[in-house]
Amino acid sequence: MPVGYVQIPVGIAGPLLLDDREFSVPMATTEGCLVASTNRGCKAIYVSGGASSVVLRDAMTRAPVVRFGTAKRAAELKFFLEDPLNFEALSLVFNSSSRFARLQSIKCAIAGKNLYIRFSCSTGDAMGMNMVSKGVQNVMGFLHKEFPDMDVIGISGNYCSDKKPAAVNWIEGRGKSVVCEAIIKEEVVKKVLKTDVESLVELNMLKNLTGSAMAGALGGFNAHASNIVSAIFIATGQDPAQNIESSHCITMMEAVNDGKDLHVSVTMPSIEVGTVGGGTQLASQSACLNLLGVKGASKEAPGSKSRQLATIVAGAVLAGELSLMSALAAGQLVKSHMKYNRSNKDVSKASS
Ligand code: ADP
Repeated sequence: MPVGYVQIPVGIAGPLLLDDREFSVPMATTEGCLVASTNRGCKAIYVSGGASSVVLRDAMTRAPVVRFGTAKRAAELKFFLEDPLNFEALSLVFNSSSRFARLQSIKCAIAGKNLYIRFSCSTGDAMGMNMVSKGVQNVMGFLHKEFPDMDVIGISGNYCSDKKPAAVNWIEGRGKSVVCEAIIKEEVVKKVLKTDVESLVELNMLKNLTGSAMAGALGGFNAHASNIVSAIFIATGQDPAQNIESSHCITMMEAVNDGKDLHVSVTMPSIEVGTVGGGTQLASQSACLNLLGVKGASKEAPGSKSRQLATIVAGAVLAGELSLMSALAAGQLVKSHMKYNRSNKDVSKASS
């Protein structure tokens, strides 16, 4: 029942030099500094020779909860599902739900007589929630024949885990698991980021690692990954609620090349993105995906566009981490926010 649209300003950070390609990264945000800050990080990466990324894993998950009369019966289903001899039959049933859904693994957890079954599958260029749910439904029907006393309580039993902070995503991954790195030269840290390598490494250790450990963080070993993730998600038609697990990130910083340069990396185990389906079809969001060259479904290599988008998210997070950490190290955070967020300019009139 759409009644209209809520407008959010869009800015572009970049060029982001990632894996020898240049990207102009669209970001939808009301935070004045964010695009400027990410842009500065992109510049530091660019003049240092670029960032590189690796997609470590690509699998969407769904975990129904089923109940038995006894824990013994729940355990029997667990052993059945985890037996390699049964995997082929299960994947045949699962994969029949879509041309793109391909079952990769099944992981089970028991709570008394209740069993949580986490199905992981590749989903082509779709984020994949619909696809994986259909596959799971097929398997539930199949299992009912072998285990007629199985009671399916819910197709999602929260062990998936969608849109909630959960260690299972942080440890096992959900969507795309990506690592992205760059070496920022000493003079770039000084001239572009206005700080020094030693201060950045120390701040990263005390803030992103130790500070987050003190706070009991779950996947929050970073300065502001969710800022960048949310802005790109909104611009490109992703599900903004999935920013929770998509922003899980550990930022590492280390002095390299005899302590002169900075090695920086972000490791993000659960970036949930798609370039087809959901909000990606809307006009403005399509335009943003087009800008990145990743709109739609890849016919030649299904999944390559959504994986590319995930690497861009990680690359932009790398830029964002570099810039905010530098502002903090140099004590400039409050000053820049006052300058960019307290502008008197009436942006509502800017487009008229
Ligand atoms: P989601 O599973 O993310 O909720 P949808 O089911 O809404 O996504 O959209 C995916 C649809 O796009 C499916 O119907 C699927 O068959 C179709 N499709 C076409 N090409 C591709 C592709 N390369 N990768 C994934 N899905 C594709």
